[in-house]
Amino acid sequence: MYFIANWKMFGSLNSLNSLNKVIKFFKIFKKNKFLKIVYCPPTTLLGPMAEIFKKTKIDIGAQNCHEQDSYGAFTGSVNSKMLKNIGAKYVIIGHSENRQRGENDKLINQKIKSASRSGLKVIFCIGETLNEKRKKITKKVLNRQLRLGLSKIKSKNKIIIAYEPVWSIGTGLIPNASDLYETINFIKKKIRKIKVLYGGSVNPKNIDYLKTINNLDGYLIGSASQNSKKFIDIIKKRYS
Ligand code: PEP
Repeated sequence: MYFIANWKMFGSLNSLNSLNKVIKFFKIFKKNKFLKIVYCPPTTLLGPMAEIFKKTKIDIGAQNCHEQDSYGAFTGSVNSKMLKNIGAKYVIIGHSENRQRGENDKLINQKIKSASRSGLKVIFCIGETLNEKRKKITKKVLNRQLRLGLSKIKSKNKIIIAYEPVWSIGTGLIPNASDLYETINFIKKKIRKIKVLYGGSVNPKNIDYLKTINNLDGYLIGSASQNSKKFIDIIKKRYS
């Protein structure tokens, strides 16, 4: 079961102080064998976080990467090789906040290929907008995102899908259990043996509801993950 923390464009060196709580919690948590915690901070904090988690089983990941894995004149960009070099094991690709800023399926596909070549595990985000949900074209949208995003990628064993309905990210809204179960099943039938996470407003209150959806392999957690206590509460409640 994955618990992936996406800090988005938040966090400073001071924010790292509270991670000790998570390290201590993980060490003594009886069910720790069953879970994988991954922190995806902004790029500026990857190095310091790698140091903090060095002697722990907690992994770090990046929130995006350039589509080219070789070095080049791309001011402001970071490639997957550089991320791997600083200690990242994972990278989030296709997040809706980046799709909304112009990343299309083709670019996402190139990024996934690049990350895979560098040996990073990819957390590949897909999800429909509110408008698409209203038009009842969720499956069509997911199908397109999966087909184009994973085009010509033979080995999918280093890819994890994060189903994140765009209308649920940062809104406090979550899908109802039967819709979510069905969507996760749909994705798992399309790509066999793939792990599928849910992301969108996961918090210590709604985890009791979300844990009833038993085909999920974990959660991608945004704002609640920036608070160590809330993040720990989510994990504890998931297993209570
Ligand atoms: C996310 O950004 O991936 C996310 C799920 O955010 P939030 O939990 O804040 O909705």
